[in-house]
Amino acid sequence: MKCQLQCIECRATYDPDEIIYLCPSCGGLLEVVYDLPSIDIDFHTSGECRSVWKYRSLLPVERDPVTICEGGTPLYRIGRLAKDMGAREMFVKHEGLNPTGSFKDRGMTVGVTRALELGMKTVACASTGNTSASLSIYAAKAEIPAVVLLPGGKVALGKVAQALIHGAKVLDIRGNFDQALQLVREVCDEYGFYLLNSINPFRLEGQKTIAFEIADELGWEVPDRVILPVGNAGNISAIYKGFKELRECGITDTVPKMTGIQAEGSRPVVDAIDRGLDRIEPEPNPETIATAIRIGDPVNAAKALRAIRESGGLAISVTDDEIIQAQRDLASLEGIGVEPASATSVAGMRKLLADGVIDSDERIVCITTGHLLKDPTEVVDICAKPIEVDANIEAVRKAVFG
Ligand SMILES: *Cc1c(COP(=O)(O)O)cnc(C)c1O
Ligand SMILES: [Zn+2]
Repeated sequence: MKCQLQCIECRATYDPDEIIYLCPSCGGLLEVVYDLPSIDIDFHTSGECRSVWKYRSLLPVERDPVTICEGGTPLYRIGRLAKDMGAREMFVKHEGLNPTGSFKDRGMTVGVTRALELGMKTVACASTGNTSASLSIYAAKAEIPAVVLLPGGKVALGKVAQALIHGAKVLDIRGNFDQALQLVREVCDEYGFYLLNSINPFRLEGQKTIAFEIADELGWEVPDRVILPVGNAGNISAIYKGFKELRECGITDTVPKMTGIQAEGSRPVVDAIDRGLDRIEPEPNPETIATAIRIGDPVNAAKALRAIRESGGLAISVTDDEIIQAQRDLASLEGIGVEPASATSVAGMRKLLADGVIDSDERIVCITTGHLLKDPTEVVDICAKPIEVDANIEAVRKAVFG
Protein backbone atom coordinates (compact mmCIF):
# COMPACT_ATOMS: atom_id res chain seq x y z
CA MET A 1 0.00 0.00 0.00
CA LYS A 2 1.38 3.37 -1.06
CA CYS A 3 0.06 5.52 1.78
CA GLN A 4 -1.69 5.57 5.13
CA LEU A 5 -3.86 7.99 7.03
CA GLN A 6 -2.28 9.41 10.15
CA CYS A 7 -3.74 11.54 12.95
CA ILE A 8 -1.77 14.77 13.37
CA GLU A 9 -2.48 14.74 17.12
CA CYS A 10 -2.08 11.19 18.48
CA ARG A 11 -0.14 9.79 15.47
CA ALA A 12 -2.41 6.74 15.18
CA THR A 13 -2.41 5.36 11.65
CA TYR A 14 -5.33 4.02 9.65
CA ASP A 15 -6.01 2.09 6.47
CA PRO A 16 -6.43 4.64 3.66
CA ASP A 17 -9.57 2.83 2.47
CA GLU A 18 -11.45 3.57 5.69
CA ILE A 19 -14.03 6.29 5.16
CA ILE A 20 -13.00 8.59 8.01
CA TYR A 21 -12.39 12.32 8.09
CA LEU A 22 -11.20 12.69 11.70
CA CYS A 23 -9.21 10.38 13.96
CA PRO A 24 -11.67 7.80 15.39
CA SER A 25 -9.66 7.67 18.60
CA CYS A 26 -8.99 11.35 19.45
CA GLY A 27 -10.92 13.45 16.91
CA GLY A 28 -7.76 15.00 15.43
CA LEU A 29 -7.29 15.94 11.78
CA LEU A 30 -5.92 13.26 9.46
CA GLU A 31 -3.21 13.48 6.86
CA VAL A 32 -1.97 11.18 4.13
CA VAL A 33 1.51 9.86 4.87
CA TYR A 34 3.86 7.94 2.59
CA ASP A 35 6.90 5.80 3.09
CA LEU A 36 8.87 8.35 1.06
CA PRO A 37 12.20 6.48 0.81
CA SER A 38 10.42 3.55 -0.83
CA ILE A 39 8.82 5.69 -3.55
CA ASP A 40 10.48 5.83 -6.94
CA ILE A 41 9.96 9.51 -7.73
CA ASP A 42 9.42 10.20 -11.38
CA PHE A 43 8.06 13.64 -12.28
CA HIS A 44 7.23 13.54 -15.94
CA THR A 45 4.44 15.05 -17.98
CA SER A 46 2.23 12.30 -19.26
CA GLY A 47 -0.15 12.90 -22.12
CA GLU A 48 -1.02 16.16 -23.72
CA CYS A 49 -1.10 18.73 -20.91
CA ARG A 50 0.97 19.85 -17.99
CA SER A 51 -1.11 19.11 -14.90
CA VAL A 52 -1.28 18.02 -11.28
CA TRP A 53 -0.68 14.48 -12.55
CA LYS A 54 2.91 15.22 -13.46
CA TYR A 55 3.49 14.59 -9.75
CA ARG A 56 1.45 11.42 -9.47
CA SER A 57 4.32 9.48 -7.90
CA LEU A 58 3.59 11.55 -4.75
CA LEU A 59 -0.21 11.37 -5.06
CA PRO A 60 -2.37 8.81 -3.22
CA VAL A 61 -4.31 7.18 -6.07
CA GLU A 62 -3.65 4.29 -8.44
CA ARG A 63 -6.51 4.41 -10.95
CA ASP A 64 -6.78 6.61 -14.04
CA PRO A 65 -7.48 10.13 -12.87
CA VAL A 66 -10.64 12.16 -13.44
CA THR A 67 -8.86 15.10 -15.01
CA ILE A 68 -9.49 18.20 -17.11
CA CYS A 69 -5.93 19.54 -17.18
CA GLU A 70 -5.89 21.23 -13.79
CA GLY A 71 -2.69 22.74 -12.43
CA GLY A 72 0.22 23.80 -14.59
CA THR A 73 -0.67 27.41 -13.84
CA PRO A 74 1.81 30.20 -14.64
CA LEU A 75 4.30 31.58 -12.15
CA TYR A 76 4.63 35.20 -13.23
CA ARG A 77 7.71 37.24 -12.40
CA ILE A 78 6.35 40.56 -11.16
CA GLY A 79 8.00 43.86 -12.13
CA ARG A 80 6.04 47.09 -11.66
CA LEU A 81 4.00 46.03 -8.65
CA ALA A 82 7.06 44.59 -6.88
CA LYS A 83 8.93 47.84 -7.42
CA ASP A 84 5.95 49.83 -6.17
CA MET A 85 5.89 47.78 -2.97
CA GLY A 86 9.65 47.81 -2.52
CA ALA A 87 10.28 44.10 -3.06
CA ARG A 88 13.38 42.74 -4.79
CA GLU A 89 12.00 39.54 -6.21
CA MET A 90 8.34 38.69 -6.42
CA PHE A 91 6.32 36.06 -8.25
CA VAL A 92 2.61 35.45 -8.54
CA LYS A 93 1.31 31.91 -8.98
CA HIS A 94 -2.03 32.53 -10.68
CA GLU A 95 -4.33 29.73 -9.61
CA GLY A 96 -7.23 31.60 -11.20
CA LEU A 97 -6.11 30.00 -14.47
CA ASN A 98 -7.26 26.53 -13.46
CA PRO A 99 -10.20 25.01 -15.45
CA THR A 100 -12.94 26.39 -13.16
CA GLY A 101 -10.90 29.43 -12.16
CA SER A 102 -9.60 28.42 -8.73
CA PHE A 103 -7.03 26.13 -7.08
CA LYS A 104 -9.88 23.94 -5.81
CA ASP A 105 -9.58 21.98 -9.08
CA ARG A 106 -6.25 20.55 -7.92
CA GLY A 107 -7.91 19.10 -4.85
CA MET A 108 -11.00 17.87 -6.65
CA THR A 109 -9.19 15.99 -9.41
CA VAL A 110 -7.57 13.89 -6.68
CA GLY A 111 -10.61 13.88 -4.38
CA VAL A 112 -13.11 12.74 -7.01
CA THR A 113 -10.66 10.17 -8.39
CA ARG A 114 -10.31 8.87 -4.85
CA ALA A 115 -14.13 8.79 -4.50
CA LEU A 116 -14.31 6.44 -7.51
CA GLU A 117 -11.45 4.35 -6.17
CA LEU A 118 -13.35 3.93 -2.90
CA GLY A 119 -16.57 3.06 -4.73
CA MET A 120 -18.45 6.10 -3.41
CA LYS A 121 -21.68 6.81 -5.26
CA THR A 122 -22.29 10.50 -4.44
CA VAL A 123 -19.96 13.37 -3.56
CA ALA A 124 -20.85 16.40 -1.44
CA CYS A 125 -19.46 19.62 -0.01
CA ALA A 126 -20.32 22.89 1.68
CA SER A 127 -18.85 25.87 -0.10
CA THR A 128 -18.38 29.61 -0.26
CA GLY A 129 -18.58 29.01 -4.02
CA ASN A 130 -15.36 27.78 -5.59
CA THR A 131 -15.38 24.35 -3.98
CA SER A 132 -18.90 23.78 -5.32
CA ALA A 133 -17.93 24.90 -8.83
CA SER A 134 -15.01 22.54 -8.79
CA LEU A 135 -16.80 19.56 -7.25
CA SER A 136 -19.62 19.99 -9.75
CA ILE A 137 -17.35 19.84 -12.81
CA TYR A 138 -15.35 16.80 -11.63
CA ALA A 139 -18.50 14.95 -10.60
CA ALA A 140 -19.89 15.61 -14.09
CA LYS A 141 -16.69 14.25 -15.62
CA ALA A 142 -16.82 11.20 -13.31
CA GLU A 143 -20.52 10.65 -14.02
CA ILE A 144 -21.56 10.69 -10.38
CA PRO A 145 -24.01 13.03 -8.61
CA ALA A 146 -22.80 15.98 -6.51
CA VAL A 147 -24.68 17.73 -3.70
CA VAL A 148 -23.49 21.18 -2.63
CA LEU A 149 -24.61 23.34 0.29
CA LEU A 150 -24.10 27.09 -0.06
CA PRO A 151 -24.61 29.92 2.44
CA GLY A 152 -27.74 31.36 0.77
CA GLY A 153 -27.32 34.78 -0.82
CA LYS A 154 -23.62 34.95 0.05
CA VAL A 155 -22.04 33.27 -2.94
CA ALA A 156 -20.67 35.21 -5.92
CA LEU A 157 -22.73 34.87 -9.08
CA GLY A 158 -20.04 33.30 -11.30
CA LYS A 159 -19.51 30.47 -8.84
CA VAL A 160 -23.22 29.62 -8.48
CA ALA A 161 -23.50 29.60 -12.28
CA GLN A 162 -20.71 27.04 -12.51
CA ALA A 163 -22.15 24.72 -9.89
CA LEU A 164 -25.55 24.85 -11.61
CA ILE A 165 -24.50 24.32 -15.23
CA HIS A 166 -22.16 21.41 -14.46
CA GLY A 167 -25.11 19.68 -12.85
CA ALA A 168 -24.74 19.62 -9.06
CA LYS A 169 -27.77 19.62 -6.80
CA VAL A 170 -27.35 23.10 -5.33
CA LEU A 171 -28.90 23.92 -1.94
CA ASP A 172 -29.01 27.43 -0.52
CA ILE A 173 -28.80 27.11 3.26
CA ARG A 174 -30.35 29.75 5.48
CA GLY A 175 -27.13 30.18 7.41
CA ASN A 176 -23.44 30.94 6.97
CA PHE A 177 -20.63 28.77 5.60
CA ASP A 178 -19.67 27.32 8.98
CA GLN A 179 -23.26 26.13 9.47
CA ALA A 180 -23.37 24.70 5.95
CA LEU A 181 -20.19 22.73 6.64
CA GLN A 182 -21.53 21.35 9.91
CA LEU A 183 -24.70 20.30 8.10
CA VAL A 184 -22.98 18.63 5.15
CA ARG A 185 -20.85 16.60 7.56
CA GLU A 186 -24.03 15.24 9.13
CA VAL A 187 -25.56 14.61 5.71
CA CYS A 188 -22.48 12.65 4.59
CA ASP A 189 -22.52 10.53 7.76
CA GLU A 190 -26.22 9.86 7.39
CA TYR A 191 -26.38 9.03 3.66
CA GLY A 192 -22.89 7.75 2.93
CA PHE A 193 -21.95 10.62 0.59
CA TYR A 194 -18.23 11.25 0.15
CA LEU A 195 -17.30 14.55 1.82
CA LEU A 196 -14.97 16.67 -0.29
CA ASN A 197 -14.40 19.70 1.86
CA SER A 198 -10.79 20.38 2.79
CA ILE A 199 -11.17 18.29 5.93
CA ASN A 200 -10.78 15.42 3.46
CA PRO A 201 -7.03 14.69 3.51
CA PHE A 202 -7.01 13.24 -0.02
CA ARG A 203 -8.26 16.50 -1.47
CA LEU A 204 -5.39 18.37 0.17
CA GLU A 205 -2.93 16.00 -1.52
CA GLY A 206 -3.95 17.49 -4.86
CA GLN A 207 -3.45 21.01 -3.56
CA LYS A 208 0.08 20.30 -2.35
CA THR A 209 1.12 20.20 -6.02
CA ILE A 210 1.15 24.02 -5.87
CA ALA A 211 4.36 23.64 -3.86
CA PHE A 212 5.77 21.10 -6.33
CA GLU A 213 5.10 23.41 -9.28
CA ILE A 214 6.61 26.47 -7.60
CA ALA A 215 9.83 24.61 -6.80
CA ASP A 216 9.84 22.93 -10.22
CA GLU A 217 9.48 26.27 -12.02
CA LEU A 218 12.25 27.83 -9.92
CA GLY A 219 14.64 25.04 -10.94
CA TRP A 220 13.99 23.05 -7.74
CA GLU A 221 14.74 26.03 -5.56
CA VAL A 222 12.49 27.13 -2.74
CA PRO A 223 11.35 30.76 -2.32
CA ASP A 224 11.98 32.47 1.02
CA ARG A 225 8.29 33.06 1.59
CA VAL A 226 4.92 31.98 0.23
CA ILE A 227 1.97 34.30 0.94
CA LEU A 228 -1.65 33.23 0.49
CA PRO A 229 -5.19 33.86 1.73
CA VAL A 230 -6.48 31.70 4.57
CA GLY A 231 -10.14 30.70 4.83
CA ASN A 232 -10.76 27.13 5.93
CA ALA A 233 -6.96 26.89 6.15
CA GLY A 234 -6.60 23.79 3.97
CA ASN A 235 -4.49 25.30 1.24
CA ILE A 236 -1.75 26.73 3.45
CA SER A 237 -1.53 23.35 5.18
CA ALA A 238 -1.40 21.48 1.86
CA ILE A 239 1.28 23.71 0.32
CA TYR A 240 3.44 23.42 3.41
CA LYS A 241 3.10 19.64 3.28
CA GLY A 242 4.20 19.69 -0.35
CA PHE A 243 7.35 21.64 0.46
CA LYS A 244 8.11 19.37 3.42
CA GLU A 245 7.84 16.27 1.24
CA LEU A 246 10.23 17.70 -1.34
CA ARG A 247 12.70 18.34 1.45
CA GLU A 248 12.22 14.87 2.92
CA CYS A 249 12.88 13.36 -0.50
CA GLY A 250 16.12 15.32 -0.74
CA ILE A 251 14.90 17.25 -3.81
CA THR A 252 15.10 20.61 -2.01
CA ASP A 253 16.75 21.61 1.24
CA THR A 254 14.46 24.15 2.91
CA VAL A 255 10.81 25.16 3.23
CA PRO A 256 9.43 28.67 2.68
CA LYS A 257 8.04 30.79 5.50
CA MET A 258 4.32 30.12 5.19
CA THR A 259 2.49 33.42 5.50
CA GLY A 260 -1.30 33.42 5.83
CA ILE A 261 -3.49 36.47 5.24
CA GLN A 262 -7.03 36.84 6.54
CA ALA A 263 -9.59 39.61 6.30
CA GLU A 264 -10.01 41.99 9.22
CA GLY A 265 -13.60 40.82 9.87
CA SER A 266 -12.69 37.14 9.80
CA ARG A 267 -9.32 36.48 11.42
CA PRO A 268 -9.39 33.57 13.87
CA VAL A 269 -6.05 32.15 12.67
CA VAL A 270 -4.32 35.52 12.99
CA ASP A 271 -5.66 35.91 16.53
CA ALA A 272 -4.43 32.45 17.55
CA ILE A 273 -0.95 33.21 16.16
CA ASP A 274 -0.87 36.61 17.87
CA ARG A 275 -1.85 35.12 21.22
CA GLY A 276 0.29 32.01 20.94
CA LEU A 277 -2.74 29.71 21.21
CA ASP A 278 -2.85 26.09 20.05
CA ARG A 279 -6.43 26.32 18.85
CA ILE A 280 -8.55 29.04 17.35
CA GLU A 281 -11.52 30.77 18.87
CA PRO A 282 -14.22 30.72 16.19
CA GLU A 283 -15.52 34.06 14.92
CA PRO A 284 -19.33 33.75 15.06
CA ASN A 285 -20.04 36.52 12.53
CA PRO A 286 -17.30 36.61 9.90
CA GLU A 287 -17.63 39.57 7.51
CA THR A 288 -15.58 40.59 4.48
CA ILE A 289 -15.92 41.44 0.82
CA ALA A 290 -13.61 38.47 0.20
CA THR A 291 -16.40 35.88 0.35
CA ALA A 292 -14.09 32.91 -0.34
CA ILE A 293 -12.42 33.47 3.03
CA ARG A 294 -15.51 34.58 4.93
CA ILE A 295 -15.05 31.67 7.34
CA GLY A 296 -15.16 32.00 11.11
CA ASP A 297 -14.33 28.47 12.17
CA PRO A 298 -11.64 27.07 9.86
CA VAL A 299 -11.60 23.27 10.08
CA ASN A 300 -7.92 22.94 9.24
CA ALA A 301 -6.76 25.49 11.82
CA ALA A 302 -4.66 22.94 13.73
CA LYS A 303 -2.69 22.09 10.57
CA ALA A 304 -2.36 25.73 9.52
CA LEU A 305 -1.07 26.91 12.91
CA ARG A 306 1.64 24.25 12.72
CA ALA A 307 2.54 25.16 9.12
CA ILE A 308 2.92 28.82 10.05
CA ARG A 309 4.90 28.20 13.25
CA GLU A 310 7.14 25.37 12.03
CA SER A 311 8.12 27.27 8.89
CA GLY A 312 8.86 30.50 10.77
CA GLY A 313 5.99 32.20 8.97
CA LEU A 314 3.40 34.78 9.91
CA ALA A 315 -0.30 35.56 9.87
CA ILE A 316 -1.81 39.02 9.53
CA SER A 317 -5.11 40.52 8.48
CA VAL A 318 -5.94 43.21 5.93
CA THR A 319 -8.97 45.46 5.51
CA ASP A 320 -11.49 45.22 2.69
CA ASP A 321 -10.13 48.51 1.30
CA GLU A 322 -6.61 47.09 1.22
CA ILE A 323 -7.95 43.99 -0.53
CA ILE A 324 -9.69 46.07 -3.21
CA GLN A 325 -6.56 48.17 -3.74
CA ALA A 326 -4.46 45.04 -4.25
CA GLN A 327 -7.06 43.65 -6.64
CA ARG A 328 -6.83 46.87 -8.68
CA ASP A 329 -3.01 46.85 -8.57
CA LEU A 330 -2.79 43.29 -9.85
CA ALA A 331 -5.24 44.06 -12.63
CA SER A 332 -3.86 47.40 -13.78
CA LEU A 333 -0.11 46.98 -13.21
CA GLU A 334 0.36 43.30 -13.98
CA GLY A 335 -2.60 42.15 -16.07
CA ILE A 336 -3.65 39.62 -13.45
CA GLY A 337 -7.39 39.53 -12.81
CA VAL A 338 -8.36 38.01 -9.48
CA GLU A 339 -11.33 37.76 -7.17
CA PRO A 340 -11.12 39.69 -3.86
CA ALA A 341 -9.98 36.78 -1.63
CA SER A 342 -7.03 36.19 -3.94
CA ALA A 343 -5.87 39.77 -3.64
CA THR A 344 -5.39 39.40 0.11
CA SER A 345 -2.00 37.78 -0.51
CA VAL A 346 -0.73 40.89 -2.27
CA ALA A 347 -2.45 43.24 0.20
CA GLY A 348 -0.73 41.36 3.00
CA MET A 349 2.65 41.50 1.27
CA ARG A 350 2.37 45.25 0.84
CA LYS A 351 1.52 45.71 4.49
CA LEU A 352 4.33 43.45 5.74
CA LEU A 353 6.89 45.31 3.62
CA ALA A 354 5.56 48.75 4.57
CA ASP A 355 5.66 47.87 8.26
CA GLY A 356 9.18 46.49 7.92
CA VAL A 357 8.06 43.08 9.19
CA ILE A 358 9.58 41.29 6.21
CA ASP A 359 12.79 42.00 4.39
CA SER A 360 12.76 43.59 0.92
CA ASP A 361 15.51 41.14 -0.11
CA GLU A 362 13.30 38.10 0.23
CA ARG A 363 12.24 36.05 -2.75
CA ILE A 364 8.46 35.97 -2.38
CA VAL A 365 5.70 34.01 -4.09
CA CYS A 366 2.13 35.26 -3.71
CA ILE A 367 -0.64 32.83 -4.57
CA THR A 368 -3.67 34.33 -6.31
CA THR A 369 -6.29 31.72 -5.62
CA GLY A 370 -9.22 32.57 -7.89
CA HIS A 371 -10.14 34.35 -11.14
CA LEU A 372 -11.62 37.82 -11.51
CA LEU A 373 -14.71 36.59 -13.39
CA LYS A 374 -15.82 34.57 -10.39
CA ASP A 375 -17.28 37.66 -8.80
CA PRO A 376 -18.29 40.15 -11.52
CA THR A 377 -20.82 41.98 -9.33
CA GLU A 378 -18.17 43.05 -6.85
CA VAL A 379 -15.94 44.38 -9.62
CA VAL A 380 -18.73 46.37 -11.25
CA ASP A 381 -19.58 47.84 -7.84
CA ILE A 382 -16.05 49.06 -7.10
CA CYS A 383 -15.21 50.40 -10.57
CA ALA A 384 -16.45 53.60 -12.23
CA LYS A 385 -19.54 53.00 -14.34
CA PRO A 386 -19.17 52.79 -18.13
CA ILE A 387 -19.76 56.16 -19.81
CA GLU A 388 -23.03 56.15 -21.72
CA VAL A 389 -22.86 58.00 -25.06
CA ASP A 390 -24.94 58.43 -28.19
CA ALA A 391 -24.08 56.20 -31.14
CA ASN A 392 -22.06 58.77 -33.12
CA ILE A 393 -18.39 59.62 -33.51
CA GLU A 394 -18.69 63.08 -31.97
CA ALA A 395 -20.07 61.66 -28.75
CA VAL A 396 -17.25 59.09 -28.62
CA ARG A 397 -14.65 61.82 -29.26
CA LYS A 398 -16.02 63.87 -26.37
CA ALA A 399 -16.04 60.92 -24.03
CA VAL A 400 -12.49 59.81 -24.93
CA PHE A 401 -10.69 63.16 -25.25
CA GLY A 402 -12.86 65.24 -22.91
C1 LIG B 1 -11.05 28.29 -1.09
C2 LIG B 1 -10.45 29.61 -1.38
C3 LIG B 1 -9.60 30.26 -0.48
C4 LIG B 1 -9.33 29.72 0.90
O1 LIG B 1 -8.59 28.54 0.92
P1 LIG B 1 -8.60 27.64 2.25
O2 LIG B 1 -7.94 26.39 1.84
O3 LIG B 1 -10.04 27.45 2.61
O4 LIG B 1 -7.87 28.40 3.29
C5 LIG B 1 -9.03 31.45 -0.85
N1 LIG B 1 -9.29 32.01 -2.05
C6 LIG B 1 -10.10 31.42 -2.95
C7 LIG B 1 -10.36 32.11 -4.24
C8 LIG B 1 -10.71 30.21 -2.64
O5 LIG B 1 -11.54 29.66 -3.52
ZN1 LIG C 1 -5.81 10.84 17.00
